[in-house]
Amino acid sequence: MKFQFEDTRPTVTSESILADLRRVAAELGGTRLPQNQYRERGQFSHSVVKKRFGSWNAAVVAAGLAADPSRRNIPDEELFDNLREAWIQLGRQPRRSEMGPPISRFGREPYVRRFGSWLAALRAFVGITGSADQPRSETAAGKAENPRYASLRLRFQVMQRDSFRCVTCGRSPATHTGLILHLDHVVPFSKGGRTELANLRTTCADCNLGKGDAL
Ligand SMILES: [Zn+2]
Repeated sequence: MKFQFEDTRPTVTSESILADLRRVAAELGGTRLPQNQYRERGQFSHSVVKKRFGSWNAAVVAAGLAADPSRRNIPDEELFDNLREAWIQLGRQPRRSEMGPPISRFGREPYVRRFGSWLAALRAFVGITGSADQPRSETAAGKAENPRYASLRLRFQVMQRDSFRCVTCGRSPATHTGLILHLDHVVPFSKGGRTELANLRTTCADCNLGKGDAL
């Protein structure tokens, strides 16, 4: 008899990991999934999850579950990014009580902890994104540079100007759950189109399909 190792495990897909995270969270009766609970009931090891998604929290968020509320020192960028997503989902400024799944990955706690209050967090966010009334030039630093991807501030400005709706079909995530909004270059980036307010518009994933110049 010849002993030969055969790896009989099916290939682990990201979707199968996410499905298992959701399964355990559902078993626990909610949208939160503490790491130690998953260790007891989950199908995959922590290292597999971490290797695939970069961190436990990133995996949890990718699964559409709430981020660990006790997590400390969440980078500002991540807080703002989440707030922007929530804002886009609602099509307006989120209320404190709305901060949580499915609108937001984080509750209001990390914002209050970081900025002192929910309103202060909103003020800080609006400060970095700028308002539509006072457009700030993204390319003030130098016209020569034309980044392909818009900064968080610019993305928000474009979507705010377009009222968080697809400029082609008029749908918005606020009225169509799960709709994903993208930015689109009017003059394509590949044809020298600039990544700036005037040359960007908001489109949904459907309308953007096949264009190949989505951001
Ligand atoms: Zn559309």
